[in-house]
Amino acid sequence: MEALHSLSVTVAEIRSPAQGYLALVGSGLLKQLGACVGKYLLGKTCSIICDSKVAPLFANRVKRGLTSAGFQPTLITIPAGEKSKTLAQAGAICDQMIAAGLDRQSFVIGLGGGVIGDISGFVAAIYHRGIPHVQIPTTLLAMVDSSIGGKTGVNTRDGKNLIGALHHPSLVIDDVDVLKTLPRREFNQGFAEIIKHAIIADAKMFGTLQSFKASEALALQQLIRRNIEIKAAIVAKDEQDRTGERALLNFGHTVGHGIERAGGYQKFLHGEAVSLGIVAACAISIKRAGLPPDQRDKVVDLLQRFELPTRLPPKFPRKKIIDALKFDKKFERGKVRFVVTPRIGTARLSSDVTIDDIREAIHAL
Ligand code: NAD
Repeated sequence: MEALHSLSVTVAEIRSPAQGYLALVGSGLLKQLGACVGKYLLGKTCSIICDSKVAPLFANRVKRGLTSAGFQPTLITIPAGEKSKTLAQAGAICDQMIAAGLDRQSFVIGLGGGVIGDISGFVAAIYHRGIPHVQIPTTLLAMVDSSIGGKTGVNTRDGKNLIGALHHPSLVIDDVDVLKTLPRREFNQGFAEIIKHAIIADAKMFGTLQSFKASEALALQQLIRRNIEIKAAIVAKDEQDRTGERALLNFGHTVGHGIERAGGYQKFLHGEAVSLGIVAACAISIKRAGLPPDQRDKVVDLLQRFELPTRLPPKFPRKKIIDALKFDKKFERGKVRFVVTPRIGTARLSSDVTIDDIREAIHAL
Protein backbone atom coordinates (compact mmCIF):
# COMPACT_ATOMS: atom_id res chain seq x y z
CA MET A 1 0.00 0.00 0.00
CA GLU A 2 3.05 2.33 -0.02
CA ALA A 3 1.90 3.96 -3.26
CA LEU A 4 -1.31 4.91 -1.53
CA HIS A 5 0.28 6.51 1.51
CA SER A 6 0.10 9.99 0.05
CA LEU A 7 -3.66 9.60 -0.20
CA SER A 8 -6.13 9.67 2.61
CA VAL A 9 -7.11 6.01 2.75
CA THR A 10 -8.64 3.99 5.51
CA VAL A 11 -8.77 0.22 5.25
CA ALA A 12 -11.54 -1.94 6.65
CA GLU A 13 -10.59 -5.57 6.99
CA ILE A 14 -13.51 -7.86 6.39
CA ARG A 15 -13.13 -11.23 8.02
CA SER A 16 -15.48 -13.81 6.72
CA PRO A 17 -15.52 -17.56 7.30
CA ALA A 18 -15.64 -18.07 3.51
CA GLN A 19 -13.21 -15.37 2.38
CA GLY A 20 -11.52 -12.39 4.00
CA TYR A 21 -11.10 -9.23 1.96
CA LEU A 22 -10.32 -5.55 2.29
CA ALA A 23 -12.41 -2.47 1.66
CA LEU A 24 -10.26 0.58 0.87
CA VAL A 25 -12.06 3.81 1.65
CA GLY A 26 -10.52 7.08 0.54
CA SER A 27 -10.26 9.97 -1.84
CA GLY A 28 -8.36 9.74 -5.16
CA LEU A 29 -8.37 5.94 -5.19
CA LEU A 30 -9.49 5.65 -8.82
CA LYS A 31 -6.31 7.45 -9.85
CA GLN A 32 -4.33 4.72 -8.10
CA LEU A 33 -6.48 1.87 -9.29
CA GLY A 34 -3.69 -0.12 -10.95
CA ALA A 35 -1.71 -0.18 -7.69
CA CYS A 36 -4.77 -1.12 -5.62
CA VAL A 37 -5.88 -3.94 -7.89
CA GLY A 38 -2.37 -5.17 -8.73
CA LYS A 39 -1.70 -5.85 -5.08
CA TYR A 40 -4.64 -8.24 -4.66
CA LEU A 41 -5.53 -9.73 -8.05
CA LEU A 42 -3.33 -12.18 -9.95
CA GLY A 43 -5.03 -12.26 -13.37
CA LYS A 44 -4.26 -9.72 -16.08
CA THR A 45 -7.50 -9.75 -18.07
CA CYS A 46 -10.76 -8.44 -16.67
CA SER A 47 -14.17 -7.07 -17.57
CA ILE A 48 -15.40 -3.75 -16.22
CA ILE A 49 -19.18 -3.99 -15.90
CA CYS A 50 -20.79 -0.60 -15.77
CA ASP A 51 -24.13 1.09 -16.45
CA SER A 52 -24.97 3.68 -19.10
CA LYS A 53 -25.01 6.59 -16.62
CA VAL A 54 -21.83 5.71 -14.74
CA ALA A 55 -19.77 4.71 -17.79
CA PRO A 56 -19.44 8.25 -19.24
CA LEU A 57 -18.40 9.53 -15.79
CA PHE A 58 -15.77 7.04 -14.64
CA ALA A 59 -15.19 4.15 -17.05
CA ASN A 60 -12.35 5.78 -18.98
CA ARG A 61 -10.54 6.71 -15.78
CA VAL A 62 -10.84 3.14 -14.50
CA LYS A 63 -9.79 1.67 -17.84
CA ARG A 64 -6.74 3.95 -18.05
CA GLY A 65 -5.71 3.16 -14.47
CA LEU A 66 -5.83 -0.56 -15.21
CA THR A 67 -4.18 -0.41 -18.62
CA SER A 68 -1.28 1.66 -17.30
CA ALA A 69 -0.65 -1.02 -14.67
CA GLY A 70 -0.50 -3.78 -17.30
CA PHE A 71 -4.09 -5.08 -17.10
CA GLN A 72 -6.23 -5.74 -20.17
CA PRO A 73 -9.74 -4.56 -19.37
CA THR A 74 -12.87 -5.05 -21.52
CA LEU A 75 -15.61 -2.53 -20.85
CA ILE A 76 -19.18 -3.89 -20.87
CA THR A 77 -21.95 -1.31 -20.46
CA ILE A 78 -25.57 -2.16 -19.71
CA PRO A 79 -28.59 0.18 -19.45
CA ALA A 80 -28.82 1.97 -16.07
CA GLY A 81 -31.56 0.91 -13.68
CA GLU A 82 -33.14 -2.03 -11.87
CA LYS A 83 -34.64 -3.37 -15.13
CA SER A 84 -31.16 -4.50 -16.16
CA LYS A 85 -30.81 -6.85 -13.19
CA THR A 86 -32.01 -9.94 -15.06
CA LEU A 87 -30.79 -13.42 -15.90
CA ALA A 88 -30.94 -12.52 -19.60
CA GLN A 89 -28.66 -9.51 -19.02
CA ALA A 90 -26.26 -11.63 -16.94
CA GLY A 91 -26.15 -14.15 -19.82
CA ALA A 92 -25.49 -11.40 -22.35
CA ILE A 93 -22.59 -10.11 -20.21
CA CYS A 94 -21.14 -13.64 -20.02
CA ASP A 95 -21.39 -13.94 -23.82
CA GLN A 96 -19.44 -10.68 -24.23
CA MET A 97 -16.82 -11.90 -21.79
CA ILE A 98 -16.43 -15.17 -23.72
CA ALA A 99 -16.14 -13.21 -26.98
CA ALA A 100 -13.43 -11.05 -25.38
CA GLY A 101 -11.46 -14.17 -24.48
CA LEU A 102 -11.77 -13.85 -20.70
CA ASP A 103 -10.96 -17.11 -18.93
CA ARG A 104 -10.68 -18.69 -15.49
CA GLN A 105 -7.75 -16.44 -14.59
CA SER A 106 -9.69 -13.27 -15.41
CA PHE A 107 -11.62 -11.18 -12.92
CA VAL A 108 -14.71 -8.98 -12.96
CA ILE A 109 -14.93 -5.35 -11.83
CA GLY A 110 -18.35 -3.97 -10.96
CA LEU A 111 -18.26 -0.18 -11.38
CA GLY A 112 -21.58 1.33 -10.31
CA GLY A 113 -24.37 1.27 -7.77
CA GLY A 114 -26.05 -1.72 -6.17
CA VAL A 115 -27.57 -2.90 -9.44
CA ILE A 116 -24.16 -3.23 -11.05
CA GLY A 117 -22.65 -4.67 -7.84
CA ASP A 118 -25.33 -7.38 -7.72
CA ILE A 119 -25.28 -8.39 -11.38
CA SER A 120 -21.50 -8.18 -11.81
CA GLY A 121 -21.04 -10.25 -8.64
CA PHE A 122 -23.49 -12.80 -9.98
CA VAL A 123 -21.62 -12.97 -13.29
CA ALA A 124 -18.35 -13.42 -11.37
CA ALA A 125 -19.97 -16.23 -9.37
CA ILE A 126 -21.07 -18.21 -12.43
CA TYR A 127 -18.42 -17.40 -15.06
CA HIS A 128 -16.18 -20.47 -15.34
CA ARG A 129 -17.87 -21.56 -12.07
CA GLY A 130 -16.53 -18.55 -10.23
CA ILE A 131 -13.83 -15.95 -10.82
CA PRO A 132 -12.75 -13.05 -8.55
CA HIS A 133 -14.92 -9.96 -8.20
CA VAL A 134 -13.81 -6.41 -7.43
CA GLN A 135 -16.48 -3.99 -6.27
CA ILE A 136 -16.07 -0.30 -7.09
CA PRO A 137 -19.32 1.12 -5.68
CA THR A 138 -20.38 4.53 -6.94
CA THR A 139 -23.44 5.14 -4.75
CA LEU A 140 -23.44 5.69 -1.00
CA LEU A 141 -25.92 2.84 -0.60
CA ALA A 142 -23.60 0.47 -2.44
CA MET A 143 -20.59 1.59 -0.39
CA VAL A 144 -22.20 1.09 3.01
CA ASP A 145 -24.39 -1.86 2.19
CA SER A 146 -24.65 -3.81 -1.06
CA SER A 147 -20.91 -4.15 -1.83
CA ILE A 148 -20.32 -5.91 1.50
CA GLY A 149 -21.52 -9.38 2.44
CA GLY A 150 -21.32 -11.33 -0.80
CA LYS A 151 -25.01 -11.40 -1.76
CA THR A 152 -25.20 -11.24 -5.54
CA GLY A 153 -28.09 -11.88 -7.87
CA VAL A 154 -30.75 -10.85 -10.32
CA ASN A 155 -34.50 -10.31 -10.30
CA THR A 156 -37.16 -12.38 -12.00
CA ARG A 157 -40.64 -11.39 -13.18
CA ASP A 158 -41.99 -12.57 -9.82
CA GLY A 159 -39.72 -10.65 -7.51
CA LYS A 160 -36.39 -9.12 -6.60
CA ASN A 161 -33.20 -11.10 -6.01
CA LEU A 162 -34.88 -14.48 -6.45
CA ILE A 163 -31.87 -15.91 -8.30
CA GLY A 164 -28.41 -15.43 -6.90
CA ALA A 165 -25.26 -16.71 -5.32
CA LEU A 166 -23.17 -15.94 -2.29
CA HIS A 167 -19.89 -14.73 -3.80
CA HIS A 168 -17.71 -12.40 -1.73
CA PRO A 169 -15.65 -9.78 -3.52
CA SER A 170 -11.86 -10.08 -3.43
CA LEU A 171 -11.54 -6.33 -2.96
CA VAL A 172 -13.81 -3.31 -2.46
CA ILE A 173 -12.62 0.15 -3.51
CA ASP A 174 -14.66 3.05 -2.16
CA ASP A 175 -13.45 6.30 -3.72
CA VAL A 176 -15.59 8.99 -2.08
CA ASP A 177 -14.84 11.41 -4.94
CA VAL A 178 -17.29 9.51 -7.16
CA LEU A 179 -20.15 10.51 -4.87
CA LYS A 180 -19.85 14.14 -6.03
CA THR A 181 -21.83 13.37 -9.21
CA LEU A 182 -24.53 11.38 -7.41
CA PRO A 183 -27.93 13.14 -7.46
CA ARG A 184 -28.90 14.40 -3.99
CA ARG A 185 -31.89 12.07 -3.70
CA GLU A 186 -29.70 9.04 -4.52
CA PHE A 187 -27.07 10.22 -2.03
CA ASN A 188 -29.61 10.69 0.74
CA GLN A 189 -31.14 7.26 0.31
CA GLY A 190 -27.83 5.76 1.45
CA PHE A 191 -28.48 7.30 4.86
CA ALA A 192 -31.50 5.05 5.38
CA GLU A 193 -29.17 2.03 5.56
CA ILE A 194 -26.67 3.98 7.68
CA ILE A 195 -29.41 4.96 10.15
CA LYS A 196 -30.59 1.34 10.15
CA HIS A 197 -27.06 0.21 11.08
CA ALA A 198 -27.00 2.77 13.89
CA ILE A 199 -30.36 1.60 15.26
CA ILE A 200 -29.47 -2.09 15.23
CA ALA A 201 -25.84 -1.91 16.30
CA ASP A 202 -24.32 1.45 17.19
CA ALA A 203 -25.98 4.01 19.47
CA LYS A 204 -22.81 6.16 19.37
CA MET A 205 -23.00 6.43 15.58
CA PHE A 206 -26.67 7.40 15.96
CA GLY A 207 -25.52 10.33 18.11
CA THR A 208 -22.83 11.29 15.58
CA LEU A 209 -25.40 11.34 12.78
CA GLN A 210 -27.54 13.85 14.64
CA SER A 211 -24.95 16.54 13.87
CA PHE A 212 -23.23 14.92 10.88
CA LYS A 213 -22.12 17.06 7.94
CA ALA A 214 -21.81 14.98 4.75
CA SER A 215 -19.79 17.77 3.13
CA GLU A 216 -16.83 16.98 5.43
CA ALA A 217 -14.91 14.46 3.34
CA LEU A 218 -12.96 12.86 6.16
CA ALA A 219 -16.04 12.45 8.33
CA LEU A 220 -17.84 10.84 5.39
CA GLN A 221 -14.95 8.40 4.87
CA GLN A 222 -14.98 7.46 8.53
CA LEU A 223 -18.74 6.98 8.45
CA ILE A 224 -18.50 4.70 5.40
CA ARG A 225 -15.77 2.68 7.04
CA ARG A 226 -17.76 2.29 10.26
CA ASN A 227 -20.79 1.08 8.33
CA ILE A 228 -18.71 -1.46 6.44
CA GLU A 229 -17.45 -2.75 9.80
CA ILE A 230 -20.96 -3.03 11.21
CA LYS A 231 -22.34 -4.90 8.23
CA ALA A 232 -19.28 -7.14 7.92
CA ALA A 233 -19.37 -8.07 11.62
CA ILE A 234 -23.02 -9.08 11.42
CA VAL A 235 -22.52 -11.04 8.19
CA ALA A 236 -19.47 -12.85 9.63
CA LYS A 237 -21.60 -14.26 12.45
CA ASP A 238 -24.17 -15.71 10.06
CA GLU A 239 -22.90 -15.74 6.51
CA GLN A 240 -25.51 -18.19 5.21
CA ASP A 241 -28.43 -16.32 6.80
CA ARG A 242 -29.29 -19.29 9.00
CA THR A 243 -29.07 -18.31 12.68
CA GLY A 244 -31.07 -15.09 12.53
CA GLU A 245 -28.08 -12.80 13.13
CA ARG A 246 -27.82 -11.65 9.49
CA ALA A 247 -31.59 -11.17 9.47
CA LEU A 248 -31.09 -8.21 11.84
CA LEU A 249 -29.91 -6.28 8.77
CA ASN A 250 -33.51 -6.54 7.57
CA PHE A 251 -34.67 -4.03 10.18
CA GLY A 252 -37.15 -1.78 8.38
CA HIS A 253 -37.03 -3.94 5.26
CA THR A 254 -40.16 -6.06 5.72
CA VAL A 255 -42.48 -3.09 5.35
CA GLY A 256 -39.91 -1.31 3.16
CA HIS A 257 -39.95 -4.09 0.53
CA GLY A 258 -43.76 -4.12 0.66
CA ILE A 259 -43.81 -0.36 -0.02
CA GLU A 260 -41.35 -0.70 -2.91
CA ARG A 261 -43.44 -3.42 -4.48
CA ALA A 262 -46.75 -1.62 -3.87
CA GLY A 263 -45.28 1.47 -5.54
CA GLY A 264 -44.30 -0.60 -8.59
CA TYR A 265 -40.60 0.10 -7.83
CA GLN A 266 -41.22 3.61 -9.26
CA LYS A 267 -42.60 5.71 -6.45
CA PHE A 268 -39.80 5.31 -3.89
CA LEU A 269 -36.10 4.57 -4.10
CA HIS A 270 -35.01 1.55 -2.04
CA GLY A 271 -33.59 3.70 0.77
CA GLU A 272 -36.73 5.84 0.87
CA ALA A 273 -38.93 2.76 1.23
CA VAL A 274 -36.58 1.50 3.95
CA SER A 275 -36.92 4.85 5.74
CA LEU A 276 -40.70 4.37 5.87
CA GLY A 277 -40.17 0.74 6.89
CA ILE A 278 -37.93 1.89 9.76
CA VAL A 279 -40.69 4.18 11.05
CA ALA A 280 -43.16 1.26 10.92
CA ALA A 281 -40.64 -1.07 12.62
CA CYS A 282 -40.18 1.51 15.41
CA ALA A 283 -43.96 1.69 15.96
CA ILE A 284 -44.08 -2.10 16.22
CA SER A 285 -41.03 -2.07 18.51
CA ILE A 286 -42.84 0.29 20.91
CA LYS A 287 -45.67 -2.25 21.14
CA ARG A 288 -43.69 -5.51 21.10
CA ALA A 289 -40.21 -4.70 22.40
CA GLY A 290 -40.69 -1.78 24.80
CA LEU A 291 -38.93 0.84 22.65
CA PRO A 292 -39.44 4.17 24.46
CA PRO A 293 -41.63 6.43 22.22
CA ASP A 294 -39.14 9.32 22.52
CA GLN A 295 -36.50 7.09 20.85
CA ARG A 296 -38.90 6.53 17.93
CA ASP A 297 -39.23 10.33 17.69
CA LYS A 298 -35.43 10.67 17.54
CA VAL A 299 -35.31 8.14 14.71
CA VAL A 300 -37.98 10.05 12.78
CA ASP A 301 -36.08 13.34 13.29
CA LEU A 302 -32.86 11.76 12.06
CA LEU A 303 -34.47 10.31 8.92
CA GLN A 304 -35.96 13.73 8.19
CA ARG A 305 -32.55 15.36 8.69
CA PHE A 306 -31.40 13.41 5.61
CA GLU A 307 -34.55 14.36 3.69
CA LEU A 308 -35.93 10.84 3.86
CA PRO A 309 -39.71 10.22 3.88
CA THR A 310 -41.34 9.30 7.20
CA ARG A 311 -45.00 9.45 6.11
CA LEU A 312 -46.72 7.81 3.17
CA PRO A 313 -48.69 10.05 0.79
CA PRO A 314 -52.35 9.98 1.99
CA LYS A 315 -53.60 8.26 -1.17
CA PHE A 316 -50.86 5.60 -1.31
CA PRO A 317 -52.53 2.17 -1.64
CA ARG A 318 -51.74 0.81 1.83
CA LYS A 319 -53.59 -2.45 1.23
CA LYS A 320 -51.19 -3.22 -1.60
CA ILE A 321 -48.33 -3.11 0.90
CA ILE A 322 -49.94 -5.86 3.00
CA ASP A 323 -50.65 -7.88 -0.17
CA ALA A 324 -47.01 -7.49 -1.17
CA LEU A 325 -45.74 -8.80 2.16
CA LYS A 326 -46.54 -12.39 1.29
CA PHE A 327 -43.79 -12.24 -1.34
CA ASP A 328 -41.29 -11.36 1.34
CA LYS A 329 -38.70 -14.00 2.17
CA LYS A 330 -39.15 -13.14 5.85
CA PHE A 331 -42.69 -14.52 5.85
CA GLU A 332 -41.72 -18.11 6.26
CA ARG A 333 -44.61 -20.56 6.13
CA GLY A 334 -47.03 -17.90 7.31
CA LYS A 335 -44.90 -17.00 10.34
CA VAL A 336 -43.56 -13.50 10.62
CA ARG A 337 -39.87 -13.10 11.42
CA PHE A 338 -39.81 -9.45 12.36
CA VAL A 339 -36.80 -7.44 13.53
CA VAL A 340 -37.53 -5.15 16.47
CA THR A 341 -35.42 -2.72 18.47
CA PRO A 342 -35.89 -2.48 22.25
CA ARG A 343 -33.61 0.60 22.29
CA ILE A 344 -31.42 2.46 19.79
CA GLY A 345 -28.22 0.46 19.28
CA THR A 346 -29.68 -3.04 19.60
CA ALA A 347 -32.05 -5.29 17.72
CA ARG A 348 -33.47 -8.78 17.91
CA LEU A 349 -35.75 -11.09 15.99
CA SER A 350 -39.26 -11.41 17.34
CA SER A 351 -41.87 -14.03 16.62
CA ASP A 352 -44.54 -12.14 18.62
CA VAL A 353 -45.30 -9.63 15.88
CA THR A 354 -48.62 -10.28 14.15
CA ILE A 355 -49.87 -9.32 10.72
CA ASP A 356 -52.33 -7.02 12.54
CA ASP A 357 -49.43 -5.20 14.23
CA ILE A 358 -47.88 -4.65 10.81
CA ARG A 359 -51.19 -3.56 9.28
CA GLU A 360 -51.70 -1.05 12.12
CA ALA A 361 -48.19 0.37 11.68
CA ILE A 362 -48.68 0.74 7.92
CA HIS A 363 -51.99 2.54 8.37
CA ALA A 364 -50.33 4.92 10.84
CA LEU A 365 -47.63 5.84 8.32
P1 NAD B 1 -28.42 1.83 -8.79
O1 NAD B 1 -27.28 0.92 -8.97
O2 NAD B 1 -29.56 1.68 -9.74
O3 NAD B 1 -27.89 3.33 -8.84
C1 NAD B 1 -28.80 4.39 -8.72
C2 NAD B 1 -28.71 5.36 -9.91
O4 NAD B 1 -27.59 6.21 -9.73
C3 NAD B 1 -28.54 4.70 -11.28
O5 NAD B 1 -29.27 5.42 -12.22
C4 NAD B 1 -27.05 4.86 -11.55
O6 NAD B 1 -26.76 4.90 -12.93
C5 NAD B 1 -26.76 6.19 -10.89
N1 NAD B 1 -25.40 6.36 -10.40
C6 NAD B 1 -24.64 5.47 -9.74
N2 NAD B 1 -23.51 6.03 -9.32
C7 NAD B 1 -23.52 7.32 -9.75
C8 NAD B 1 -22.63 8.41 -9.59
N3 NAD B 1 -21.51 8.31 -8.88
N4 NAD B 1 -22.98 9.59 -10.16
C9 NAD B 1 -24.15 9.72 -10.84
N5 NAD B 1 -25.04 8.74 -10.98
C10 NAD B 1 -24.73 7.53 -10.44
O7 NAD B 1 -29.05 1.72 -7.32
P2 NAD B 1 -28.48 1.62 -5.83
O8 NAD B 1 -29.42 2.40 -5.02
O9 NAD B 1 -27.03 1.92 -5.73
O10 NAD B 1 -28.63 0.07 -5.49
C11 NAD B 1 -29.89 -0.54 -5.45
C12 NAD B 1 -29.68 -2.01 -5.77
O11 NAD B 1 -28.87 -2.58 -4.75
C13 NAD B 1 -30.97 -2.80 -5.80
O12 NAD B 1 -30.96 -3.66 -6.92
C14 NAD B 1 -30.92 -3.63 -4.52
O13 NAD B 1 -31.60 -4.87 -4.64
C15 NAD B 1 -29.43 -3.83 -4.37
N6 NAD B 1 -29.00 -4.12 -2.99
C16 NAD B 1 -28.22 -5.21 -2.80
C17 NAD B 1 -27.76 -5.52 -1.52
C18 NAD B 1 -26.84 -6.69 -1.33
O14 NAD B 1 -26.54 -7.04 -0.18
N7 NAD B 1 -26.37 -7.31 -2.37
C19 NAD B 1 -28.11 -4.70 -0.44
C20 NAD B 1 -28.91 -3.57 -0.66
C21 NAD B 1 -29.35 -3.29 -1.96
